[in-house]
Amino acid sequence: MTHRITLIPGDGIGPELTAATQRVLAATGVAIDWEVQTAGADVMASEGTPLPARVLDSLRRNGVGLKGPLTTPVGTGFRSVNVAIRTELDVFASVRPSRSYAGVPGSMSGVDLVIIRENTESEYVGIEFAQGSPEVTELRAFAERHVGRGFREDSGVALRPISVTGSRRIVEYAFRHAREQGRRKVTAIHKANILKHTDGLFLEVARAVASAHRDIEFTDMIVDAACMNLVQRPQQFDVMVMPNLYGDILSDLCAGLVGGLGVAPGANLGERAAVFEPVHGSAPSFKGSGLMNPTAMLLSAAMMLHHIGEHDAARGLERAVEQVLAAGRAVTRDLLPPAEHARAVTTEQMADAIIAALPVVRA
Ligand code: NAD
Repeated sequence: MTHRITLIPGDGIGPELTAATQRVLAATGVAIDWEVQTAGADVMASEGTPLPARVLDSLRRNGVGLKGPLTTPVGTGFRSVNVAIRTELDVFASVRPSRSYAGVPGSMSGVDLVIIRENTESEYVGIEFAQGSPEVTELRAFAERHVGRGFREDSGVALRPISVTGSRRIVEYAFRHAREQGRRKVTAIHKANILKHTDGLFLEVARAVASAHRDIEFTDMIVDAACMNLVQRPQQFDVMVMPNLYGDILSDLCAGLVGGLGVAPGANLGERAAVFEPVHGSAPSFKGSGLMNPTAMLLSAAMMLHHIGEHDAARGLERAVEQVLAAGRAVTRDLLPPAEHARAVTTEQMADAIIAALPVVRA
C-alpha cells in the first residue's frame, strides 16, 4: 500500500534534513507518495501569506504530514506558522519522547520519558495587547473593577486561556498514551499555587481524569520543582502532561538531558490529522551547511511510520539510528566531544550510515 503524505520541507536547515529523511524512508521499503508543500517566509514573499490554504488543505486531505522546522520572526512580523498549523488542524497533543541513547555524549543514562504538551491553548493563542494601546487601558480598568487591582500602565498584556475541554482531552490523551505504550505513571506539571484559575483548573481536571484511570499511577508537580527534578533525577519521570508553554520549555530541557536538540523527535496529534516534526527549530545560521544532525527528524519519521501502521519499518529505522549512534563512527558534529569534531560526518553521510544499518528489505 502506498501512503500519501504531506511533506513540508520547512526553511533554514529544514530542507536538507527532510531530503535526507526522504532518502532513508525510501530505503525502509515503505511506499510513500509525497505531496510537497512549501510554507514560511519565502512563501510569504511570493504568495502573500506564510501559510497558504493549500498547505492546510493538503494536510487535511492526507491526514498525515512530515514537517521540517519553520522560522518565526522574533518580536515583530508574522505569527508562528508552526503554531498556526497546530491550531488550524487542532492537533492538540504534542508528543515529545526523550530517551537516552548509547554513544551520545552528554546524555544522562536511563532516561525514558515523554512530554505530552497541550498544543492549542494558554499563551500560544496569541491574544496579546500592545503596550500603550487603548485595549490595555481598558483591561487595566477592567482588572481594577473586577479584581480590585490593576497593573503598570506601560504593560503589554497577554491572555492565557486554559479550558476544561482542552485540559480534559490532553490529560485523557496522556493516559491513553501511557496505556498504549506500556507506561506506568502520569505526572501533571503546573503552577497551580500561583495561577489558580488556569493551572488550578488544569490540575483539577487532571485529578478528575486520573480518578478514572486508577491502573496508572498519577502524581503532579509544580513546574519549577519539575525542572530541578528533571536535571537531578530524570529517571523518575514517565509520562509528563502539561499546558502549552511549559511543554515548550521542558521539552527543550529534556532534549538537553539526552544529548541535545539533534536527537529530540516529536509528533502533533489530533482527531483528524497528525503532523510529525523534530523539537528543534530551523537553526538559520546553519542553513545549507549540510552538517546538522538528521536524527531528530528521522525519529519523528519513525513515529510517523508507527502512526500509519508501518510498525516493522518504524522499529527497523529506530534500531538503525540506535546502532549508528552507539557506534559513533558516522555521526554529525553535535554528537562528538569538541576534541573529535574533525572526524564529524555530514548529514547525508550519517543518513547513508543509517540506511546501511536498516534491515534488508525483501522485494
Ligand atoms: P533551534 O532549535 O533552531 O536551534 C538552536 C540550536 O540547536 C542551534 O543553533 C544548533 O546549535 C542546535 N540544533 C538545532 N537543531 C539541530 C540539529 N538538527 N542538529 C544539530 N544541532 C541542532 O532554535 P532557535 O535558534 O531558537 O530557533 C531558530 C528558529 O526556529 C526560530 O525562528 C524559531 O521560532 C524556529 N523554531 C521552529 C520550530 C518548529 O518549526 N517547530 C521549533 C523551534 C523553533
